[in-house]
Amino acid sequence: MIIPGVSVHIGRDVDDALENLSSVKDATLLAGGTDLLVEINFGRARPTHVIVIDRLDELKALDRNGHIRMGALVTYTRMLADDPGSAALREAARTVGSPQIRNAGTLGGNLGTASPAGDTLPVLAALDATVVLRSRAGERRVKFADYMTGPKKSVRRPDEIVVAAEWDDAGPAQTFMKVGTRNAMVIAVAGLALVVDRARRRVGVGLGSCGPTILRAPDAEKFAAGLFDEAGWDRRMRPTEVARTEFGRLAAAAARPIDDVRGTAAYRRHVLAVMASRALARVATIA
Ligand SMILES: Cc1cc2nc3c(=O)[nH]c(=O)nc-3n(C[C@H](O)[C@H](O)[C@H](O)COP(=O)(O)OP(=O)(O)OC[C@H]3O[C@@H](n4cnc5c(N)ncnc54)[C@H](O)[C@@H]3O)c2cc1C
Repeated sequence: MIIPGVSVHIGRDVDDALENLSSVKDATLLAGGTDLLVEINFGRARPTHVIVIDRLDELKALDRNGHIRMGALVTYTRMLADDPGSAALREAARTVGSPQIRNAGTLGGNLGTASPAGDTLPVLAALDATVVLRSRAGERRVKFADYMTGPKKSVRRPDEIVVAAEWDDAGPAQTFMKVGTRNAMVIAVAGLALVVDRARRRVGVGLGSCGPTILRAPDAEKFAAGLFDEAGWDRRMRPTEVARTEFGRLAAAAARPIDDVRGTAAYRRHVLAVMASRALARVATIA
C-alpha cells in the first residue's frame, strides 16, 4: 500500500537517526511496528515522516554483569532465548502476543507506547529500573517510576530515542502474572510483577492495567519486606495464608482501576489480590 505524503528515513546508526529526528518536525520512530502499524491501520496515527530504527545494532545489545543494560531493540523472542537478566521479564515476554509479534516487538516499543497494559512495564517498575533516553544533546536517565505520566504518555521528548533500560540484577526471586480474557494473544486486564531482591533486602511490586500509569504498591512492599526481615532474607519461607491475604489486600489497595471493556474496577482489584498472594507464595520459596 502506498500512503501518499509519507517520507521514510532508514537510520544507519543512532547518531544518524537522532540527527534526522531533531531536524524533522513530528517525526515518528518505527522499531518492530507492532503498535505503530495497528495505529496506522485503524486511522489513529497518520505519520508524515517515519524514522526506521530497527537496524541500529547499538540498540540490540544486552549486557549483564551484576548490572543489566537491555538495548531498546531487544525483542521478546530474544528475552526468551537469551538470559534477559530478569526472570520476571522473561515470564512477561512469554505472555506477549504470538510468535510473530514476539519476533518483531521490542522493549523500546513497549516503552515508546507507554501503555498501562504494556507487559514489560510492571516488571521494570518492580525492578526499580531506569530508562535511558538519548538526543543529540546527550543522554539522560529517568527512573521508571518517573517515566510514565499518563496512559500512553511519558516524559520522552520528541527529539529523544529510548536507547535502553537498566537495572541491578535482583536475583531469581521474582515473577510476573497477568490476567486476560483468554490465555494467549491478549491484552492484560491486570498484571503484576513481584521482585524480592534478597541481597539488597528490597521488595518491588509493579501493577499493570489498573491505573493511568504503571503503579507501585509501597504498603505491600513494606509488608513483604517485614516478612523477610523476620524469616531471614537468605532463607526460603512459606508465608501463612493470613500473610498472603494481607499482602494481596495491600497490593490491590494501591490500584486505581477503572471499568472498561476488558473488565470492571472491582474485578481488577480482585484479581490483583489473588495474583499478589500467589506471587508471594511462589517467590518466597526461591532463594
Ligand atoms: C496482535 C498483537 C498482540 C500484542 N500483544 C501484546 C501483549 O501481549 N503485551 C504487550 O505488552 N504488548 C502487546 N502488543 C503491543 C506491542 O507488540 C508491544 O507494545 C511492542 O513492545 C511494541 O514494540 P515495537 O518495536 O513493535 O514498537 P513500534 O510499533 O515500532 O513502536 C511503538 C511506539 O513506540 C515508539 N518507539 C519505538 N521504539 C522506540 C524507541 N526506541 N524510542 C522511543 N520511541 C520508540 C514508536 O514511535 C511508536 O510510537 C501486541 C500487539 C499486537 C499487534
